[in-house]
Amino acid sequence: MWKTCSVAVLALILGSCTEPNRNQASFGVASQRYFGSCLDGKIFELKQFDYATNGKTGLGRKYQPPQLGAEVTDTTILNDINAAAFGNTPAYFQKELCNLEYLFIDRNLSSKETAGWGFWEAPDQSSHGVSNSFVGISPSVWSTSSGGMLASLTQYKTNILASMLSTVGVSTAVAYSGANENGRVVLLRAILAHEVGHILYRSGKVVDACSAEYDLTWDKYAKPKKPKRMLPFGYQDGKTSVGWRLKDIRRTPAKAVDYLRDTYTSGGWASFLATSTPEEDFVETFTMAVLTGSGSQKLTRLVVDFKDGKAPVDIAQVFLASSVLQQKAGCFTR
Ligand SMILES: [Zn+2]
Repeated sequence: MWKTCSVAVLALILGSCTEPNRNQASFGVASQRYFGSCLDGKIFELKQFDYATNGKTGLGRKYQPPQLGAEVTDTTILNDINAAAFGNTPAYFQKELCNLEYLFIDRNLSSKETAGWGFWEAPDQSSHGVSNSFVGISPSVWSTSSGGMLASLTQYKTNILASMLSTVGVSTAVAYSGANENGRVVLLRAILAHEVGHILYRSGKVVDACSAEYDLTWDKYAKPKKPKRMLPFGYQDGKTSVGWRLKDIRRTPAKAVDYLRDTYTSGGWASFLATSTPEEDFVETFTMAVLTGSGSQKLTRLVVDFKDGKAPVDIAQVFLASSVLQQKAGCFTR
């Protein structure tokens, strides 16, 4: 059972860091696998990398950069990643992907409940003054035997939601039940957007510029002063006066569906996960902006069914029609 989901993970290095071992990378030799994208020569199997506690201050852990395995040569994987990343997607999304040092297929995730992770090296901790960033993706995205855990965008989104709701005992209350695009490319695009969204947030490049927009949904939206290295799934922080959060459901579980419906119809939130922290709000808004913004498999319909006999909600259309969400999304392009 895919009962929790750690797509929310993002690690921030607080210890010293060193240059990733480039000796193991082979640049410019894969002409037969050349796709003409900025990710050429950057997609590798991951041999070893601790994205969760690497370099954590206080634990005496020295930062260890990722150890690269073989360069990925599977044309299905490469084609899917390139289609997800560069299939006429928004320029601000492509830019963040091109900033990645490496994109990993992390086989350690295949037995875990994690779709992917994003990792940003803090430049002030870096001996070389360069802030590299990495994304890892679970090979379960390409597995046909994963029991549907990552079989589609709606399954992926439902798993995240169910994981949050399972902590308050209402995991089956809501499901993403349909989408106009629901295959592997749009699923990968959602995972990539979520993880580079975390990297963008932690790098601080746009967060200050977005503060007015995020004040629309947070009482005190601000760049995190001391961000947690990694956001535990379902971690909550910040005060919000719009929508409903998990603690409200915990308090009054009988109203769970009503609270969830209010969240999705409010026009303030791209997802329920977005209500957990300002960072997840930023990341989930970024993700929905990428998915609905442009692209060869642009999302125009993403249905959330509350299983209460009432009409489902199309969160993609809510997102496109909401001035608050469009203002929040608009700040990415600045
Ligand atoms: Zn997240």
